[in-house]
Amino acid sequence: MKLWKKILIVFVCLLLLIQIPFIYRRYELGRLSENIKRLNSEKEENPLITGFDEYKGVIHVHTSLGGHSTGSFEELIPASQDLDFVLMTEHTSALFDTSAQTLKGQYGRTLFVNGQEVDTASGDRFLLIPGHSDSFKDAKLQTDAFIEKYKAQERLILVAYPERLKSLQADFDGIEVFSLNTNAKKMNPFTFFFDALWSFRCCDRLLLSKYFMRPDSNLKLADELARKKKLTIFAGTDAHSNIGFHLLGDDAGNKLFYLKFDPYERIFSLMRNHVLIRKGEPLNEQTLLQAVKDGKLYVCVDVWGDPKGFSFTANDEKTMGDEILIGQEPISLKVSSPLEGQIKIFRNGEKIFETFGKYAEFQATERGAYRVEIYLSSLGLTQMPWIISNPIYIR
Ligand SMILES: [Zn+2]
Repeated sequence: MKLWKKILIVFVCLLLLIQIPFIYRRYELGRLSENIKRLNSEKEENPLITGFDEYKGVIHVHTSLGGHSTGSFEELIPASQDLDFVLMTEHTSALFDTSAQTLKGQYGRTLFVNGQEVDTASGDRFLLIPGHSDSFKDAKLQTDAFIEKYKAQERLILVAYPERLKSLQADFDGIEVFSLNTNAKKMNPFTFFFDALWSFRCCDRLLLSKYFMRPDSNLKLADELARKKKLTIFAGTDAHSNIGFHLLGDDAGNKLFYLKFDPYERIFSLMRNHVLIRKGEPLNEQTLLQAVKDGKLYVCVDVWGDPKGFSFTANDEKTMGDEILIGQEPISLKVSSPLEGQIKIFRNGEKIFETFGKYAEFQATERGAYRVEIYLSSLGLTQMPWIISNPIYIR
């Protein structure tokens, strides 16, 4: 046999050999999908009534208005119809006010709020919701001046990319502890290419979610800050609808063999923010932004299971974002989960209690910021919490 034939055979054998883990992964994802269906079929109504209605939606979304996104309103609106709200965060432009031109108001069942993503001269990056016509030129302001200006106008100011945050003491409202975009950048492209080759057709969403990792350092930062002040933990989609490839195409958008990994609809189905608004109050821009500001929110990997009915309460009267004063008696923290999981309670970032099931109760005797993480450990999903709550503050 000629040498080149031998080399070719060895090469083909090697290529086949390295497929084995990815083929096994395809098998595992199929099993996981079945197990998720089974677990969700055992869902129970939540026994704890907290007096709130729950709304689900996404925060941190771009369209082509602000550059480096190919997303259009035509794609975005239909992709959002499973959501109650979308907080837009367009990049700013020197030429026009992107907040005035992006979506605002009700489109179908979904409420849009016209925010922007803004840099400051201090090197920090914020989501300003709603946005403002000054926001492009306000990139010259230092963070404190920026926050002072927009707090006076009662706009929501959330930290994006907390790993780059310099002004730790600034008076922002919340922190993006998990970013789908940041997580995607950490994915190994070689592994993902072969994973996608085998598993994307059957389980695209589940495959993407298997790459989620608990954002340890961002949670640590949020826990550290929550010791001193109230702030909201949330997840950002940072959706741009711009990751993909095509073989042939033209400027009119005609593309041959076009594969897009991050269309809005797919990205919006993976992880959402669930916001609590007091029963009887409508969902509108004002009530929504107030609830986010107040920390009446939890983050969930929705593709693993519908969390509706999750609750975290203190003495059956307070919930996430609330403060409660401690006296002689301990404070009873209760967690209820619609799906069975590993429930962990943290105080100031330190895990103080852990149990498996749908229900947990802990008697708190110390002051601190208490929050919850739930892991679907029976499905082997231990690298990333299914639910991350906002804190209850015991003072
Ligand atoms: Zn962004």
